Amino acid sequence: MITITPKLLFLGTGGSMGIPVIGCKCPVCQSEISFNKRLRPSALLMIDGKRILIDCGPDFREQALRYGLDQLDGIIITHAHNDHTAGFDELRIYSLRTHQAIPCLLSPDTLADLKRRFYYIFDEDSPYAALTAKFQLQLLESERAEVLFAGLDVRYFTYQQGGMNVNGFRFGNLAYVSDIRDYPTTIFEDLKGVETLVISALRFSSTPLHFSIDEAVDFSRRVGAKQTWLMHIAHELDHEKANAYLPADIRLAYDGLEI
Ligand SMILES: [Zn+2]
Ligand SMILES: [Zn+2]
Repeated sequence: MITITPKLLFLGTGGSMGIPVIGCKCPVCQSEISFNKRLRPSALLMIDGKRILIDCGPDFREQALRYGLDQLDGIIITHAHNDHTAGFDELRIYSLRTHQAIPCLLSPDTLADLKRRFYYIFDEDSPYAALTAKFQLQLLESERAEVLFAGLDVRYFTYQQGGMNVNGFRFGNLAYVSDIRDYPTTIFEDLKGVETLVISALRFSSTPLHFSIDEAVDFSRRVGAKQTWLMHIAHELDHEKANAYLPADIRLAYDGLEI
C-alpha cells in the first residue's frame, strides 16, 4: 500500500465538450475568469518520483505543452469514451523519443475499444509501425483488485456509465473516480479510508451518464473523504457560484490545480 501522499495535477476538468463550448454564448462560456475555462478531463499523478498520466483526451497535446509533460512513466485509462482517449495517438512522441514502450493500465473492454479506434497503433505489420506509439499493456483482469503498475501499488474497481464499464483508481489515500453513474456497493470498501476524493459531477441537474453536484456530495459523504474535488464539469456550472453552494470540504477543481 502506498504510504507517501500522492500529488495530482489537474490537466483538464471540463466535461466532454470542454469550456467554452464551441459557439456557446452562455455566461460561463463567455466568462473571462480562468477558472471557467476547462480542457477535457485528465490528470497527472506524481508519486515516488513517477509521473503517471490518467486519461488522454482530445486536449492532450495542449495539456502536455502547457504543463511541460516531457516524460511519462505510465498511463492509466479509465474508459474508452472519446473525451478520455482521443489523444492516445499523441503519446507516440514519448515512445519515439525513448525507444521504450509506455506502460499502460486499462481494462480488456477499454483495450478492445481502443483497438477498433486506433487499429494502426496495434498493427505490427503496418508500414507505419515504426512511427506509432508503443505500449506495454497491463490489463485489469477482474472487477476490483490491487495491482503493481509502474512500480506503484494501485487499487482499481469497476462501475458503469451508460452500459460501459469504467474503472476508478486508488493510490494510497487518494482516489480518482471519473464518469461514474451506477456502481456496486463494494465501491465503498475500495474507497474506505480515502482522504482525498476526486470525482466527476457534471452539473446541478441529474443526467443519465453523470452524477449531479448533490449526488457527488452524497457519494463523498458515504466515502467519508476529508477533501473532495469535483471535475468533469459542464458549462452549466459557474466556478464561483458552484463553490458558494458547496460545503467547505468539497470544491470544484480547476485546470492547473495541484493537490
Ligand atoms: Zn456555454
Ligand atoms: Zn467523460
